[in-house]
Amino acid sequence: MIVIDGSRGEGGGQILRSSLALSLVTGQPFHIVKVRAARARPGLMPQHLTAVRAAAAIGGARIEGDHIGSQSLLFAPRTVKAGRHHFAVGTAGSCTLVLQTVLPSLLTAGSSSEIVLEGGTHNPNAPPFEFLERAFLPLIGRMGPKITATLQRPGFYPAGGGRFTISIEPASRLERLDIPERGNILNCSAHAVVARLPREIAERELKVVRDRLNWSEKCCSVEEAASSSGPGNVLCIEIRSEHITEVFTGFGERGVRAEHVASETVREVEEYLAAEVPVGRYLADQLLLPMAQAGGGSFRTFAPTRHATTSVGIISKFLPVEIAMQQGARNKWEIRVTKTP
Ligand code: AMP
Repeated sequence: MIVIDGSRGEGGGQILRSSLALSLVTGQPFHIVKVRAARARPGLMPQHLTAVRAAAAIGGARIEGDHIGSQSLLFAPRTVKAGRHHFAVGTAGSCTLVLQTVLPSLLTAGSSSEIVLEGGTHNPNAPPFEFLERAFLPLIGRMGPKITATLQRPGFYPAGGGRFTISIEPASRLERLDIPERGNILNCSAHAVVARLPREIAERELKVVRDRLNWSEKCCSVEEAASSSGPGNVLCIEIRSEHITEVFTGFGERGVRAEHVASETVREVEEYLAAEVPVGRYLADQLLLPMAQAGGGSFRTFAPTRHATTSVGIISKFLPVEIAMQQGARNKWEIRVTKTP
């Protein structure tokens, strides 16, 4: 039995989600202890419990310790069941992170799947829907599976209530993926969404984007999301290059000026443009698992985050791969996933 210490490395929900995903992919059971021990409120929160139950439903798994606050979980999957599934977090907890848990096993399942996810679709510290749709899923698509994601309505903290659907046409196996360069930049755009908040917030954010990045009006768009159950604001900046699309996001917060939200997001974009690496920090930790599943892949990125190094430790417990991280120039690292014999 694989034993995972949930307090190691980054010490958060990612260790749990990666373990669940890898267990479904490989069929190996695991026992995780000290779940989210490094967090202020340790143990399973509603969003993590939804991920556990979602993984159990997909894998017909036997589970022990699946209750709120639990710091120990045993997970023993049987066979992966593709098809129609519906997972609702029930709070504003991120449902894109629930998808992160079940997606890998469905990429090579025997038949297609349609998954409906409900909860937060735009949460700080989780992949926002636009990042999934435009940055992450197209790269997974290059590995073979055909995936489409459709947002029915956004869900922001604290109201939640967001919903999106994802359909997955699996591949028999994942192809390796290599992203050494980003190539020429083809298009840049900024999209500011306001839900039940004044439009002016989005307009102020976009003005910062135009002024700082020297972009024209036609690169910028505002959306008033009337279907959202509660208030929220997100700014998404997309850089589409020849070999990759990256998406950077900032979230409006009570008491934080729109200009500040935009300025922080622009700073990330400026750093990305200056570093000339194709893969940003978030994509970097999220690509490791599918590349390991494929048995190979490589990319250039910034210095690995704790999420990335933690992910490497978990992956190597389940799959026979080596993940090398080598620094080239300053702020330019090469990540290489290879199969070990
Ligand atoms: P954890 O903090 O363990 O719950 O994991 C958070 C996950 O969300 C990691 O896989 C991050 O890469 C991802 N994430 C956090 N913020 C963003 C963002 N702004 N864009 C894309 N992914 C994100």
